[in-house]
Amino acid sequence: MRPVITQQVGELRVHALHAGIQRLDGGAMFGVVPKPLWSRRIEADDRNRITLAMRPLLIEHPDGLVLVDTGVGNKESDKFAGIYGIDNAGSDGRTVLEDAITSLGHSLSDVKLVLNTHLHFDHCGGNTFIPVDDVERRVQPAFPGARYVAHRRELDYGTHANERTQASYFPHNWEVLQQRGLLELIDGPAGTIVPGVKVLATPGHTPWHMSALVESRGETLLYPADTIPTAHHIPLPWIMGYDVEPLRTLESKRALYTRGVAEGWRVVFEHDDDDATVGARMVMGDRGVQLG
Ligand SMILES: [Zn+2]
Repeated sequence: MRPVITQQVGELRVHALHAGIQRLDGGAMFGVVPKPLWSRRIEADDRNRITLAMRPLLIEHPDGLVLVDTGVGNKESDKFAGIYGIDNAGSDGRTVLEDAITSLGHSLSDVKLVLNTHLHFDHCGGNTFIPVDDVERRVQPAFPGARYVAHRRELDYGTHANERTQASYFPHNWEVLQQRGLLELIDGPAGTIVPGVKVLATPGHTPWHMSALVESRGETLLYPADTIPTAHHIPLPWIMGYDVEPLRTLESKRALYTRGVAEGWRVVFEHDDDDATVGARMVMGDRGVQLG
């Protein structure tokens, strides 16, 4: 198991957990940026794939544990894991995300709130799980004490997927939550989920994608999710080919940088496999935003 990286944000303890890795096509990850440029910064394997982390955020909040995003989970087939290069197996047939939470001394039922930045399978797949001993493979909520929060329009977008978007949205990641009344839908462009944990609308990757902000005592940690998936995506035009509205991603990034630099935000990049990027501060350099 990879180590948990813990930071203090004002009065809140925040852990960057490791929910496993995936390997995705390098060209798709960098959109219009040509390979001679991106391959100088990150190495591709013999299938042109780059290694990406999945790093959910766990916030030790006075109201209970808050988990932001949940990785891929344990419900997908070996064939699927092979295509996306997923390596996330944990103990008891579950995933390394559950192992990371229990390694901190918490039980899975201590998680009181799960926030999904959007509903792509690598961000909400761990919302639910299939017990390893259930021959009928019944999907269950992964965190039995939690309410789950997602954006109403993102759910609508994901349940009415088209030929290009359907490969990312799997209803088994949220249906059982809806059936049991555990899924809470939010509407606003921004809002406070619990005191100190906010969401911001950062459209582009999906039309209703949200970023999370942890704020306490004048300190702010940004979790931009797929708006800026790795530190390599900091330059404004380095935008994933997966994004459905890349020019809106551009403006979402610009808006995050304007505030983030002025207010000295730190960042956790959800898909960056380099532990050194966790909690780095955004600063303005000679050629735009960089990590300080
Ligand atoms: Zn995504």
